Amino acid sequence: MYGIIATWRMALKGISQADALLKKNGNAKVAIETVIKAVEDFEFYKSVGYGGLPNEDMEVELDAAFMDGDTLDVGCVGAIKDYANPVSIARKLSTYPVNNFLVGQGAEKFAHRHGFERKNMLTERAKIHYHNRIVETTENSELKPYSGHDTVGMVCLDSFGSMTSATSTSGLFMKHPGRVGDSPVSGSGFYVDSKVGGASATGLGEDVMKGCVSYEIVRLMKEGMHPQLACEKAVKDFDTELRQRRGKAGDMSLIAMNNKGEWGCATNIEGFSFAVCTEKEKPTVYLVKFDEKGKQYFEPASKEWMDHYMASRTAPLIRK
Ligand code: ASP
Repeated sequence: MYGIIATWRMALKGISQADALLKKNGNAKVAIETVIKAVEDFEFYKSVGYGGLPNEDMEVELDAAFMDGDTLDVGCVGAIKDYANPVSIARKLSTYPVNNFLVGQGAEKFAHRHGFERKNMLTERAKIHYHNRIVETTENSELKPYSGHDTVGMVCLDSFGSMTSATSTSGLFMKHPGRVGDSPVSGSGFYVDSKVGGASATGLGEDVMKGCVSYEIVRLMKEGMHPQLACEKAVKDFDTELRQRRGKAGDMSLIAMNNKGEWGCATNIEGFSFAVCTEKEKPTVYLVKFDEKGKQYFEPASKEWMDHYMASRTAPLIRK
């Protein structure tokens, strides 16, 4: 059995490439890096890689991670600038015995030394978003400066039983320079153990990190819970905990897959989508919804939704 699951619809194209690789006995490390790179390279996704939204100084700072579920090797970069594929740098870092998590200039020096592709990651579209946000925030004090963020987070299982997890994001739009979210933090943004399964998160990093939610899901799966139940329990319990203690909970959406290729997803927000494929299921995008009683369910995205998604991502931007 093989499979791969990812946060958000943006992973679909990459997931289809991974499907082809995994079908031909490709390994989970190569497959997951391929998918994340596909998202990083697509300039119309404004929260990951090229085209990602900048920090308050109009600089694109990226976070990424890679974890090998066989060896538990982890590699991470935080607040890295001017490199095309942070996930590949994270993967490389995971192969060393120490210095596995590098940030800022340290990460950039490492990337330079190892010949990773340099690229100015700030696109013209991102500049317009930046400019417009400043205008909107001045006009509307209700507007949250940080809204506009999504991480591509994944878990992959290959037909040899090896599993990987990886993430990539530009983090919060208008964040302070140097801010690092949950996405490159092991146990929070991602976790995978080939003996059990893996999980990955998207949402408000500052809150996801308070609960190490990805690790919690893997822990529940290790106790024998199905990925769907594990995701629902971890997200619901922690969302409740945050609301009780702090009066509110940030966005939190998690996906998971176990080492049998069974998968799950849970969220505390409307409008979350995810993409999945397994040996038995072709690449599919699901939308998560809630019924009148607040119970979560999901259904495959319609063709109209898919078309609208791409049209709205690629529509020309108007500078305010
Ligand atoms: N978790 C990411 C961060 O806080 C953002 C997101 O996934 O929406 O950096």
